[in-house]
Amino acid sequence: MRTNTDGLILKEQNIGEKDKLVTVLTRHNGLVRAFVRGAKSVKNRKNSSTGMFCYSKISLYKNKETYIIDEAEPIELFFSLRTDLEKLALAQYFAEIIISLVQEDESAEEYLRLILNSLYFLANSKLPNEQIKAITEMRIMCIAGFMPDLTACERCGTEDTNTMYFDIEDGILYCENCVATDLLYPLDIGLVKALRHIAFSDFEKIYSFRMEDYALPDLSYITEKYLLSKLQKNFKTLAFYKEITK
Ligand SMILES: [Zn+2]
Repeated sequence: MRTNTDGLILKEQNIGEKDKLVTVLTRHNGLVRAFVRGAKSVKNRKNSSTGMFCYSKISLYKNKETYIIDEAEPIELFFSLRTDLEKLALAQYFAEIIISLVQEDESAEEYLRLILNSLYFLANSKLPNEQIKAITEMRIMCIAGFMPDLTACERCGTEDTNTMYFDIEDGILYCENCVATDLLYPLDIGLVKALRHIAFSDFEKIYSFRMEDYALPDLSYITEKYLLSKLQKNFKTLAFYKEITK
């Protein structure tokens, strides 16, 4: 069975001297592992369009349980990611999150739209890296069904106090009058508003907010903690990103 779709290459492994196996986030078939035959030969144009972080039109062929990419045409290559180690490390972290979340044969439209936009903002330095990281982490959790309840205090319904307290495990907020334990994360109201913006806005608006640079590490810290608490997984790529940005 043949499918024509578009997809983003999230991983590539060489198989023997000529072939490779790629992991690709496709619009219509979810996360697919597929062989690219003869990809390593210099003249094969499938090679450049099935490299890491290439977004391409692909023709997929399924033979029994094995997918094969027999045609690929590049749409966007995100070249500048390859020349900046920090951006590349962040992109690899996004790829690892997607690989851990998306299954084969599910519609991956929303994941694809998010990661393509995040790579675009990253590659073109449209926003600080940490802001792109935070937006991607929080929004990906919402797509995966883990949207936190950030609208108001869980106990009294107050929407804004100067500091609100976030229960990461349950994904709920308390205002400063209702918080009953010092184990929760205190969040400045500006931070709460940024989190609400990322989680609740229409997709077209999620990248369009500005924060002072000094507040970005806190935002990125919270979205990361939230993601890790939901996915219960260690991401090697995140450890590497942290190592090089220390
Ligand atoms: Zn309250």
